[in-house]
Amino acid sequence: MDFGFTDEQKMLRKTARQFVDDEIMPHIQRWDAEGGFDPAIWKKLADLGFMGVCVSEQYGGSGMDYNSLAILCEELERGDTAFRTAVSVHIGLNSMTLMQWGTEEQKQKYLVPQAKGEKIGAFGLTEPGAGSDVAAMATTAVRDGDEYIINGQKTWISLCDVADHFLVFAYTDKAKKHHGISAFIVERTTPGFSSKAIKGKYGIRAGNTGELFFEDMRIPASNLVGEEGEGFKIAMSALDNGRFTVAAGAVGLIMGCLEESVKYCHERETFGKPIGKHQLVQQMIANMEAGYQMSRLLVYRAGELKNKGLRNTRETSLAKWQACDFANKAADDAFQIHGAYGYSDEYPVARFLRNSKAPVIYEGTREIHTIMQAEYVLGYREDKKLSHMLPEWPFD
Ligand SMILES: Cc1cc2nc3c(=O)[nH]c(=O)nc-3n(C[C@H](O)[C@H](O)[C@H](O)COP(=O)(O)OP(=O)(O)OC[C@H]3O[C@@H](n4cnc5c(N)ncnc54)[C@H](O)[C@@H]3O)c2cc1C
Repeated sequence: MDFGFTDEQKMLRKTARQFVDDEIMPHIQRWDAEGGFDPAIWKKLADLGFMGVCVSEQYGGSGMDYNSLAILCEELERGDTAFRTAVSVHIGLNSMTLMQWGTEEQKQKYLVPQAKGEKIGAFGLTEPGAGSDVAAMATTAVRDGDEYIINGQKTWISLCDVADHFLVFAYTDKAKKHHGISAFIVERTTPGFSSKAIKGKYGIRAGNTGELFFEDMRIPASNLVGEEGEGFKIAMSALDNGRFTVAAGAVGLIMGCLEESVKYCHERETFGKPIGKHQLVQQMIANMEAGYQMSRLLVYRAGELKNKGLRNTRETSLAKWQACDFANKAADDAFQIHGAYGYSDEYPVARFLRNSKAPVIYEGTREIHTIMQAEYVLGYREDKKLSHMLPEWPFD
């Protein structure tokens, strides 16, 4: 595998970095404290072609490869996890699922405006009683003529108050357990839909996260994604793409931790020398560097498999698990290197540490990925070709 970057990817990184430095960095401590960011950011992301970075030009995107999405996520999370999370749900969990499983009509109606950044997509899987155990969900969808009637509730949904379209999962046949779950596209404007933000979050405070409520919500039957009963499979394949973006973002968070720590190591002196000269501080820097280098190799390997149209659940899970753990540790060490100053919002490291926690939980907790990896090695789990695969890159 060749992990050299093309000129186009180098330009994407440069543009994304400049965007983060100009549009996010100057405001992020305030946005984090206030609990929201300027919505004008969405238009700027769209104008740069970021909202559909790896969606084909045929469907309104920029037509870049899947590792370009990783580059974008790295650079955004160097600024703040809230922006990478937004891209994870909009592109990774929603748009890429439509690329993989959507009908031509669904792609034209939902994917195209999402790729252009005219509409925002999100993903509603988790419920109050169903997180890791997806099949414990209680939301139902009952077919009634040309419509489905959806009742239920989702929670911890990123962009709950912001997104226009949600990919929502519900039981069409509870008796069939995993095989009775189906996937639907739900528009915010549908009567019976409402949302409510969760307040008092530990991290990703600039981002919007919360609950969705569906009360006798009628949606057209044409908004069923895939076949009835394919929802669990669709959710898991969506997570292959979402987890990829989370892993790439974690690489960006480690980059941010390294940047801030190196600066501080040269600035701060104790016992007559810069703290970077103390070996125990060097150990923390070395661990961050190791985490950064190993994580990005795992991410680009998963991206390369996506480019080739191959299954990558195993490789993506490993990248997500390891990168998020490394990022969580890097943020803890970056905080430690800053001593008491890390404790104030004069420096971004406390925000990095708070932000680094959710990615260890969402899109498969650390424990779920640990189990998955053991199951692959032990031969209890295997990735087989799906009826619908993510389109290979270059796109036709
Ligand atoms: C900021 C944020 C944003 C989110 N955004 C979204 C979103 O956009 N869409 C969405 O659908 N969801 C979203 N989530 C929800 C997230 O995906 C879930 O929180 C996650 O799947 C874990 O579910 P849970 O919180 O219910 O934990 P639980 O599943 O209840 O787990 C609790 C603990 O038990 C452990 N555990 C569970 N089962 C096992 C097992 N079999 N073996 C060993 N240990 C186990 C877990 O690892 C964890 O430590 C978000 C969460 C957060 C924090």
